[in-house]
Parts: sequence; C-alpha cells; structure tokens
Amino acid sequence: MPADTHADDLWAAMPTVRDGGDYVQSLRDRGTRLFLMGEQVKEPADHPMIAGSINAMRATYDLAETHPELALADSPLTGGKVNRFLHVTTSPADLVAKHRMQRTLGQQTGTCFQRCVGQDAVNSLHSVTFDIDAAHDTDYHQRFLTFLTRLQERNLVLAGGMTDPKGDRSKRPHEQADPEVFLKVVGRRDGGVVVRGAKAHMTGGWNSHWIMLLPTMHLTDADRDHAIVVAVPVDAEGITFVYGRQASDGRSLEPGTMDQGNARFGGQEVLVHFDDVFIPDAHVFMDGEVEFARTLVQRFTTYHRSSYMCKTGLGDVLIGAAAEVADMNGVPNASHIVDKLVEMTHLNETIWSSGIAGANEAEILPSGAAINDAMLSNVAKHNVTRFPYEIARLAQDLAGGLMVTMPSEADLRHEEIGPLLERLLAGRADVPTEDRLRVMRLIENLTIGRNAVGYLTESLHGAGSPQAQRIEIGRAMDAPSKRAMARRLAGVADDTSPGG
Ligand SMILES: Cc1cc2nc3c(=O)[nH]c(=O)nc-3n(C[C@H](O)[C@H](O)[C@H](O)COP(=O)(O)OP(=O)(O)OC[C@H]3O[C@@H](n4cnc5c(N)ncnc54)[C@H](O)[C@@H]3O)c2cc1C
Repeated sequence: MPADTHADDLWAAMPTVRDGGDYVQSLRDRGTRLFLMGEQVKEPADHPMIAGSINAMRATYDLAETHPELALADSPLTGGKVNRFLHVTTSPADLVAKHRMQRTLGQQTGTCFQRCVGQDAVNSLHSVTFDIDAAHDTDYHQRFLTFLTRLQERNLVLAGGMTDPKGDRSKRPHEQADPEVFLKVVGRRDGGVVVRGAKAHMTGGWNSHWIMLLPTMHLTDADRDHAIVVAVPVDAEGITFVYGRQASDGRSLEPGTMDQGNARFGGQEVLVHFDDVFIPDAHVFMDGEVEFARTLVQRFTTYHRSSYMCKTGLGDVLIGAAAEVADMNGVPNASHIVDKLVEMTHLNETIWSSGIAGANEAEILPSGAAINDAMLSNVAKHNVTRFPYEIARLAQDLAGGLMVTMPSEADLRHEEIGPLLERLLAGRADVPTEDRLRVMRLIENLTIGRNAVGYLTESLHGAGSPQAQRIEIGRAMDAPSKRAMARRLAGVADDTSPGG
C-alpha cells in the first residue's frame, strides 16, 4: 500500500499509553473545542464534572494490571498482548472473555466505562471491510488492519459514533430539512475525504483518542454520500464537542463526596459536530458502498447488544446495595426482603445467561472474526431494556423513602444540626448513620441520579431502542417452520398451511 503522509503525520502526534496514569495524562493539552453548561472549557481533563468519566475509562487500563487475564488478549496483528477493547474476537471463548471483562468493570465502576462502542466498531469492521473488498476489489480490509495495528501498538481508546441526530425520523438522510443531521461526505481532495454533520449521544467521545464514524441505518442509492466509515482523531480540526448533562451532575461541583452517591465514577455522552473535517484515505473504511451499510449496522448491533452484559455488573452493585441497606435497616431476614433480592438476582442472571449463550453460539465469519448469535444477542439486549428498571424499582423499595428525602452531607457535618441527624437518621444502632446514608445515595445514584443514565436509559436506547430488537427478533423468528412443527404434531394436513 502506498504511504499516506497525512495519516503518518496524525500517528506521529499520537501518544503511547502504558497504563492508567499515562492515559489520564494523554488527555491533556489537546486543544479540543468542548462546551459544557454554556462555557468553552479550556482543559476538560481538569473539570470536576468530567473527572468521574475519565476515572471510569481509566479503569479499563487499570484492569490490565490487576486482572490481565480479563483485560488483555493475544493479538495476531502485533504478536503480543493488547487491551481486549482493541481485540478482534475469533472464537466463542474470546466473546465470553469479553463479557466477563465487561461485567467485572461494571462491578468495579458502577457506571458506563465507555469503551464498548469502539470495541464493537472494530469487530464489525473487521468482517465488513473484508466482505466489501471481496465484492468490490477495494483495499479497505488492509487499511483497517493497518489502522488497528497502530491503535493496538499505542494502546489508545477508540470511541464509536454511529447515531446521527436524525432530524425527522420519518425521512431518509437525503430528505432532511437540515442536511447536517446526518453525517456525509461533502468534498474530496488531496488524498482524502471531507465530512460534515454530527453524531449524537457519543459515549466517552471526548475521553477517547480516536472516533470511528459509522452510518446509523441501512441506506439507499440516494444516500450514497452518507455511506461513509472513517476514523478521526478527537483533536482533529473542525470538531466541536457539547457535553451532555446527567441527573444530579451538579453535585460533582459541590464539596464532599457523599451526596454524589458514586463520587469516583461516572459516564460521558457528547454531541459531536464535524465541520468539514478532512480524513486521509488511509482512515476511510467504506466510501459509497451503500449495500454494506445494512450489513455493518446489523453486525455492529449484534456485537453491541451483547456488550450490554456490562449492566449485569451494575446490577450486582445495586443488588449488593439493596442487601446492605436492608441489613442496616435491621430487616435482612424478612421473607419478602430475601425474596426481592432473589428476584433481582434472577433478573440480573437472566440477562447474563442470554448474553453468554449468544457468545457460546458464535458464528465465525469469512474474515475470521467471531460474532455473537444474532437472535440471542437481540434477546439479551431486549432483556436489558426491561430488567434493570425492575431491579431498580426493587432496590428503591428496599431502600425506603429516605433515599430521596435525606438532607445533604453539609447538614450532616453541621455543628448544630449534624448530631441531631446522626441520631434521627440511624437504622440499626451498631451501624454508623453515615454508612447507611451513603448506601442510600448509591442507590439513588444508580436509579435516578447520575449513573441511572448508564444503568437505565442507556440500557433502554443504547445499541437501538427496544423496537429495533423486536424487528430483528421478528425477522429471525421463523414462524413458518414453527407452524410446520405444530401442524405435524396436531395432525393438520400440510396443504392447509398459509400459501401452500
Ligand atoms: C446513554 C446513551 C449512550 C449512547 N452512546 C452511544 C454511542 O456511544 N455511540 C452511538 O453511536 N450512539 C450512542 N447512543 C445512541 C443510541 O444508539 C440511540 O439512542 C438509539 O439508537 C435510539 O436513537 P434516538 O436516541 O435518536 O431515539 P429516537 O430514534 O428518537 O427514538 C425514540 C422513539 O421513536 C421510535 N422511532 C424512531 N424512529 C422511528 C421510525 N422511523 N418509525 C417509528 N418509530 C421510530 C423509537 O423506536 C423510539 O421508541 C447512546 C444512547 C444513550 C441513551
């Protein structure tokens, strides 16, 4: 492949990340343009509202040191160990290991650690670039492998931008009143393409080093300019980030750690605008092959819907918090309490079982990549759109109303009112009041506070709203063959079947 000096220049400016400390350092001084609460933030890495999300992303590096067996994988590209978030899965065991890592990180952070979209973009592009080349004699696969090798060697974070703002949902990209609600190619020059438009809800977008931009839906010929897949550095010229607010995020600006519920970890979503951003050819992995947009969306969502196994880790934390608070309230053995904890666990493990089953039933694609079983992946994600809400309801039931009526940490520390609160808000006499309140704040955080974004609404809409899974389940449910089974056993003649 000929050298691409534009791409080489971009890589020359990229850091190499050895560990969590390096990662945090690598986010500084990038000169990015980010707005948060009406202000352009000079150094986002230092902003208290962003800190929790950086910590959560950092946990994906720290895990490589504490649990290398979970966080690292063997790369055929580099010949060494690489972070599993940059690894292409080639076997069912690889996919199971990925989900175990995701659950563990969910347990450790209690939030979204932001790397699964990039991981799933890498995995789906491995096979889709391979298939496009086979159909069109292009060289996307080799370009992609070169890009991925560089990413693995430098141990960098890749975010994924698939969801466009989309405007009027009843219209296709080329029919929209504002053409920028779907990202598209607006020019070609000097060994690359120029893109304009936006991507919404991007998880960990600013916390990453690179963003992979992918089409959000299947496309027709009229939308050819939207059939574009490119990788772009987070600090590329022409990019603007607007930070998404989360419930109770203002508590991170207050003194103290208690009212935040989970003071160390949080998620991040950003709206990202691309104003004529230049992408060198070496970082273009689809350009106009409209018929492959559907394949890409389907493979990406199959991987990504299973990635919601991370939510079982958050579920573990919430079940633990509910059990803790029941104990602190002095009623751990009441039969309905035990039964509710069992119910929460059953729901959580039901999510896990559908995800792990889909990993074990993986298909190996022609490129050599292993992909979760599509039906089971959709079922797993559909479970995720529902069960965390019920688990959250039960956790709130066990916590009691104080979870939403308790005074602030500042009141608890107050010279005059503090001692009174210590007495009045106590549960079991041998449990410090503050501990009880802290656990309640954690439940608040996960069910209606900042990390409810990651535990609940992300579970609902991330990787596609519930209807998207129902469409896929409906497509694959194969009712005719099931009807044939029923007819055979019922003794109904074959020729009475519909259409035959
Ligand atoms: C916390 C969070 C993190 C996310 N992270 C990422 C990320 O990192 N990268 C990324 O690319 N995306 C991300 N997403 C986006 C996610 O994939 C979308 O939210 C999801 O695809 C739904 O799109 P939407 O939010 O635009 O909802 P909408 O499309 O507005 O859907 C709202 C409702 O309208 C229905 N609807 C939509 N269109 C139609 C139609 N044509 N006909 C009938 N009904 C329709 C839907 O079924 C749904 O019920 C994230 C989302 C969340 C909430």
